[in-house]
Amino acid sequence: MALVNEHFLKLPDNYLFADVAKKVNAFKVSHPNANVVSLGIGDVTQPLCPAVTEAMHRAVDEMTTPEGFHGYGPEQGYPFLRETIIKHDFLPRGIHLDPSEIFVNDGAKSDTGNIQELVRWDNSIGVTDPIYPVYIDSNVMIGRAGEIKDGRWSNVIYMPCTAENHFIPQLPNHRVDIIYLCYPNNPTGTVLSKEELRKWVNYALKNDTLIFYDAAYEAYIQDPDIPHSIYEIKGARKVAIEFHSYSKTAGFTGVRCGYTVVPKEVTASTLDGKRVALNPLWYRRQCTKFNGTSYISQRAAEAIYTPEGKEQVKKAIAYYMDNARTMRSTLTSLGLKVFGGENAPYIWLKTPKGEDSWRFFEQMLYNAHVVCTPGVGFGPSGQGYVRLTAFGSHEDCAEAMERLKKWI
Ligand code: PLP
Repeated sequence: MALVNEHFLKLPDNYLFADVAKKVNAFKVSHPNANVVSLGIGDVTQPLCPAVTEAMHRAVDEMTTPEGFHGYGPEQGYPFLRETIIKHDFLPRGIHLDPSEIFVNDGAKSDTGNIQELVRWDNSIGVTDPIYPVYIDSNVMIGRAGEIKDGRWSNVIYMPCTAENHFIPQLPNHRVDIIYLCYPNNPTGTVLSKEELRKWVNYALKNDTLIFYDAAYEAYIQDPDIPHSIYEIKGARKVAIEFHSYSKTAGFTGVRCGYTVVPKEVTASTLDGKRVALNPLWYRRQCTKFNGTSYISQRAAEAIYTPEGKEQVKKAIAYYMDNARTMRSTLTSLGLKVFGGENAPYIWLKTPKGEDSWRFFEQMLYNAHVVCTPGVGFGPSGQGYVRLTAFGSHEDCAEAMERLKKWI
């Protein structure tokens, strides 16, 4: 008899975006003529840039020849991409990495979900709240998160990020084994300054904490003083694993490519106190469970770093950040409290009278025919907020703002 992993049964069966879709569909059925505009989607809408598609075409052509054919590649990614990543994403920031510390993947979701396999099931975990749901759910599946009660998992330490604390999480007043940080943040769109991030690295060094740092939105940072990588902070190489994604950077949500940095110095302890480097463990894990990202996707990613690629990607990001600016200024002029959207493609909106997130979501849908994402779906501290994304077209964004003006 096969016994099921019962931890899976603890997961709420309602996945946030499926719930949103269900409610939007119900609305469309009862209002067949309504033209619904979505600011809820987390997916990009602009096409791949020419530098990327040209590289992909070239890679496909190579694959049609016996000399250019690529079958299984290195599990860790092709050296050409790992070296390019180091040269462009890290060296200019004074960060020196070895190609063996870069692991190319099929996007950050897999690795942010899988990385917890490297540590024992009974570590304590801390998350900023609200947060990208993958971090907690992947820990639930392995039994590390405990039981859920009133939207909180019993073994998870929640570090609230709200308007009251300016979205700056407080350091825990006790030891936590593993902490997930995501900056620029999904869903709040807020960032951490170097000073604030340094506090986390110092906390980790002092408490022997491992940080999983998700930098999926770093390309959206506009302010030159905001760190793009946790390794900009001294000591972080000993305590942090970092995740990057080309999904929002260059429209790779359908192409699938990103990378994870596991520095050689980062270690965890055995029960009897022996230090174990995590880099070789992650390499071993990837070689066993992952057969690499496609050659075509890796050539596409490499093209992002060419002068034309950089220019084109910058343009697409500027396009979305234009939407963010439009949303921020319209919503602010309506007297609403708006956060994020300056160094990230997300706007975090406080509901006007402290209304429940889902209630405000429904009001917006039924009165303005605009879709947002209820903040409480990202964690208990998201209650009373909704998330709007900047990933739509200019036209949809402008239309949504006109409707909100009329409604609010
Ligand atoms: N991390 C964060 C914070 C995200 O918001 C997302 C996607 O929305 C991901 C990681 C995963 O991105 P991908 O798997 O497309 O690289």
